Amino acid sequence: MAVLDQAPTPVTTAPADPAPKRGGGFYRERVIEVTHYTDKLFSFKTTRPASFRFRSGEFVMIGLEVDGKPLLRAYSVTSAFYDEHLEFFSIKVPNGPLTSRLKDIKVGDELLVGTKPTGTLLADNLMPGKRLILLATGTGFAPFASIIRDPETYDRFETVMAVEGCRHIAELEFATRTVTGVREHELLAEIVGDRLLYYATVTREPFYHQGRIPDLITSGKMFHDIGLEPLNREGDRVMLCGSPGMLRDVTKILAERGFIEGSSGVPGEYVIEKAFVER
Ligand SMILES: Cc1cc2nc3c(=O)[nH]c(=O)nc-3n(C[C@H](O)[C@H](O)[C@H](O)COP(=O)(O)OP(=O)(O)OC[C@H]3O[C@@H](n4cnc5c(N)ncnc54)[C@H](O)[C@@H]3O)c2cc1C
Repeated sequence: MAVLDQAPTPVTTAPADPAPKRGGGFYRERVIEVTHYTDKLFSFKTTRPASFRFRSGEFVMIGLEVDGKPLLRAYSVTSAFYDEHLEFFSIKVPNGPLTSRLKDIKVGDELLVGTKPTGTLLADNLMPGKRLILLATGTGFAPFASIIRDPETYDRFETVMAVEGCRHIAELEFATRTVTGVREHELLAEIVGDRLLYYATVTREPFYHQGRIPDLITSGKMFHDIGLEPLNREGDRVMLCGSPGMLRDVTKILAERGFIEGSSGVPGEYVIEKAFVER
């Protein structure tokens, strides 16, 4: 593990290929770990190109070579900027061109990783605030995994509230494991202390927090449950990543309360990224 307060100095872990090959705008990396959570969700780690830099919250094109051609899709990087590996959290779409193949990847397989990470879920796109609220559904938690692993997040905000909404309890596992990993991390734990709050909610089975994120915000229940004051424009900065329905409904709530959307170069009070595009 690299020292956390230094500028990112990624080191490739590619065992047989210390100088990763580049070509056609992507690196060719090796899968080093695969974890399946449900029949719809899995995560995987790959080697990291020595020259690959990204900012916490960014996404990059990744994929597989199929019939001699790259088949690429946008994926948020879930690992920290200082990690030696790259990590991604993925859906398995039945008959999805990429994920119907990606779900079968094994340790040692090749993964194409684009050379140009980008995205709007960046702390720089938010004005200063006291509380950072990260609202995700499903794989929308992916960029937030990287953000809550970044020590600078805790320099910028007094409290970080990570919210993951899913249909079923089993689908929360990646988010829950990531939060636990941050809280127990040998170096991060001291920086984070008790300032990382985690709120998990499900919609399709009994659980101690239930319901859709927009409803839990409107009713104030989410903040009441966690023992914090309700959403307020003055101190809260919000990042959204998830399903089109959650994004639509929460954006409406934020607009009604006067929150201003931020973008690259023009910081605001909230930023948004689609977790996927409906085709
Ligand atoms: C900015 C951005 C970041 C993304 N980051 C991630 C990520 O970190 N992890 C990830 O799994 N996907 C992510 N996606 C979606 C990803 O790019 C692909 O759509 C997904 O991997 C499925 O690819 P596919 O070729 O199998 O099916 P596609 O043809 O791409 O998708 C088929 C359909 O599956 C549904 N779908 C696609 N992705 C998802 C999803 N993540 N959750 C629920 N339903 C979905 C949609 O209805 C879509 O129309 C992101 C998309 C964007 C635009």
